[in-house]
Amino acid sequence: MPRVLIVEDHQRLAQAVSSVLQAQGIGCDIVASLHCAAGFLEAVSYDVLILDRGLPDGDGLALLAQLRALRRPTPCLVLTARDALGDRVHGLETGADDYLTKPFEMAELVARVKALMRRSQAWAPDEVCFSDLRVTQHTSTLFVGPSSITLSPSELQILLELIRREGGVVRRGTLESAAWGAFADITPKALVVAVHRLRGKLMALGSRVSIVNLKGIGYGLADSSDT
Ligand code: CA
Repeated sequence: MPRVLIVEDHQRLAQAVSSVLQAQGIGCDIVASLHCAAGFLEAVSYDVLILDRGLPDGDGLALLAQLRALRRPTPCLVLTARDALGDRVHGLETGADDYLTKPFEMAELVARVKALMRRSQAWAPDEVCFSDLRVTQHTSTLFVGPSSITLSPSELQILLELIRREGGVVRRGTLESAAWGAFADITPKALVVAVHRLRGKLMALGSRVSIVNLKGIGYGLADSSDT
């Protein structure tokens, strides 16, 4: 499921944006400060960032400038109450991909978010590999040689997160956020169950790769041909 981070301190507006996007099958997390946003961006990879400018701890553009300095390309739609030309130019120069002036129509917001998503998906490689594993994201399919199996959305996100770390340990919280969103109301068992199912699928395909558990910390991928 594509995921959007909404950085907006106007709670009713943030909730409205979130429910409109969720109705379109887009997962949303909401944060109300730059500080929280930085934490979420560290833990989860988002397809689009929706960024308010006037936040309690500063201007949203400061966060965007930091992201771009770190070469994080997450597409960003800036929401702004200021419609002066100078402000729009400043936003775009800081690395915003698009902007909307408040108040805006929800339909326009959805169209712009989807357009940014299409652009980012065109950039992101659809196929990800690790050892003998090959995952195609748009079909949620895991291949080992000629065999394949379909992954559930949460299994897909967990496996992609593990593959991104190339065998490094991924914290439980990071995996849970990737699979269900940072605010999802899930029990600790949900991750255990999803990992169990993933392990079953790796075994069914005869993969050399297994998922190892570092108790209390998280999970990582192990390639048996390395040992
Ligand atoms: Ca605001």
